[in-house]
Amino acid sequence: MDRPQAILFDIDGLLITTGGAGARSWRWAFNELYGIPADIGKFTDAGMTDPVVGRLTFTSAIGHEPSPVELATVISHYLMRLPEEVASSSGYTVLEGVEALLPRLCKAGFPLGITTGAVEAAAHIKLARANLNRFFTFGGYGSDSADRGELTRKAIDRAGEILGSALDRQRVLVLGDTPKDIAAAHAAGAIGVGVASGHYSKDELVEAGADYVLGSLVEDLPGVADEFSGAAPSKGQMTTGQEEMA
Ligand SMILES: [Mg+2]
Repeated sequence: MDRPQAILFDIDGLLITTGGAGARSWRWAFNELYGIPADIGKFTDAGMTDPVVGRLTFTSAIGHEPSPVELATVISHYLMRLPEEVASSSGYTVLEGVEALLPRLCKAGFPLGITTGAVEAAAHIKLARANLNRFFTFGGYGSDSADRGELTRKAIDRAGEILGSALDRQRVLVLGDTPKDIAAAHAAGAIGVGVASGHYSKDELVEAGADYVLGSLVEDLPGVADEFSGAAPSKGQMTTGQEEMA
């Protein structure tokens, strides 16, 4: 494919895994508010947005749909707890290839964004421990919409606002580790790239309709390999002085 105009990354299961810090924060919130150790296990790692996770868990644990105030209270308790759960999580991991790929893409001029079901503050808290926020210029979050396709559309619109003209959605890569990421990419008119770094295999991501499938972020992204190989020789020809300026 042609050079992508922007590349969007999911967080959990693609860039990092928090080692259950999100689930523990939800559990803490329900326990703090209602004295109920809510089971949010069935709603994690599936690519659901935080508003949906909060609503479904509330309904299942408390027995009725949350009012707007109840939902806001649960989400804010989750958020208040999240920094310490992320900081103390022994299972927090940056996934394979991420720390090499992101600076490389930035240096090659690809605008990078976040598409995540996490509310915006949660996304930044999760990325901060690995110092990854600095690579992302824009994003779409669970706080923009409970619908993943809609928040992905918003992320792409924001990239267009930053860059000065609307993007060609068919030249935007949306990377994610779940079938929901792929569905969201397509709902937004973008290219869905499944990465089998979470709980879904390459076969399952192909079955979900992924346009491209990778085993991990060590592998080349569609449309970017030529950019990298094209950039390397020109840098090799630079003198030391030019390289310092570059
Ligand atoms: Mg994910």
